[in-house]
Amino acid sequence: MIEIDGAQGEGGGQVLRSALTLSILTGQPFHIVNIRARRSKTGLAAQHLKSIDAAATISKAEVQGAHLGSRGLSFKPGGLRSGRYKFEVGTAGATTLILQTILLPLSRTSSASTVIITGGTHVPASPCYHYIEMNWLPCLRQMGMDATLNLEQAGFYPRGGGRIQATIRPSPHLRTLNLFQRGKMINLSGISAVANLPRSIAERQRRQALLRIKNLPALGNHIEPQIKIVELPSPVKGTLLLLLAEFENGRACYFSLGELGKPAEKVADEAVDRLEEFLESDGAIDQYLADQLLLPLSFADGVSTLRTSRVTSHLMTNAEILQLFLPVKIAIEGEIGETGIVRIVPQGSKES
Ligand code: ATP
Repeated sequence: MIEIDGAQGEGGGQVLRSALTLSILTGQPFHIVNIRARRSKTGLAAQHLKSIDAAATISKAEVQGAHLGSRGLSFKPGGLRSGRYKFEVGTAGATTLILQTILLPLSRTSSASTVIITGGTHVPASPCYHYIEMNWLPCLRQMGMDATLNLEQAGFYPRGGGRIQATIRPSPHLRTLNLFQRGKMINLSGISAVANLPRSIAERQRRQALLRIKNLPALGNHIEPQIKIVELPSPVKGTLLLLLAEFENGRACYFSLGELGKPAEKVADEAVDRLEEFLESDGAIDQYLADQLLLPLSFADGVSTLRTSRVTSHLMTNAEILQLFLPVKIAIEGEIGETGIVRIVPQGSKES
């Protein structure tokens, strides 16, 4: 039984989700205390409970302590199996984080799975659906993952009501990634989306974003930024502006969500500010991708190297959890808040 202190490092939900994924993949049970001890409302919330439910369902796990507000949990995986699964969060809890918990395990079974998850698809402090589709999944595909995603309905804070579908086919071997020197920018694209709000809001977001990014030196004179206007099907109202910068050897994706009283121009400005901050660093990937690639890369067939625009406590904490479950070596050079180099050496791979 692996013992985990949920208060360590970042002390948020990711400690738990990474432990669930790793427990299924390695077959090792774990016990965690102090769940989300560093959050203002500690213990399990709806999204975490659904992640536990999803992880337990696909692996026939024995679980103790899974209830709202719980600060302790035991999880003992049984047999992992593919299938057709449906998980309903019931709140705006992030569907994407639940998907990330179970995608890698399901890709290691011998037949395809389909997963439908309902809840939030574009909610603060988590990767939105389009971030996963346009930024995270392409990296996993490059590694050899065979999965496709579909956004059936968008769900925004506070009601949620979104629905995503994933098809995950067997992908037993994962290749390494070396995203170290980003090289030149080769494409800058994005989406400006509204749900149940006037299209003019999406047009204003787009106009403001284009006004700002057309002067970015990194574009040179060879890149024409493309921002698509999208009207998303959804039972609720919401907006977002997302930008994806692709480089010869790297990528970064930033987005901002609309809120009541937040002008469309501000939504665009926030996303552009984040992208500008990235461009000022010499990172090859954004800071979120770094923490989200760490786990899959620990199962790759060799050494991976990443240069992240910013070392975060999410990244450091995820590295600690991974090393509790696996004989992987993860070296992170750089202080929190600064550009960093991450080297992931799975068991059996040559260090040099
Ligand atoms: P809590 O913080 O309430 O415990 P949580 O369960 O959502 O919540 P965290 O531990 O904070 O968990 O993990 C959030 C995850 O969302 C991290 O992997 C982080 O990289 C990702 N994330 C947060 N903001 C963004 C963003 N803007 N773009 C992409 N990914 C993001």
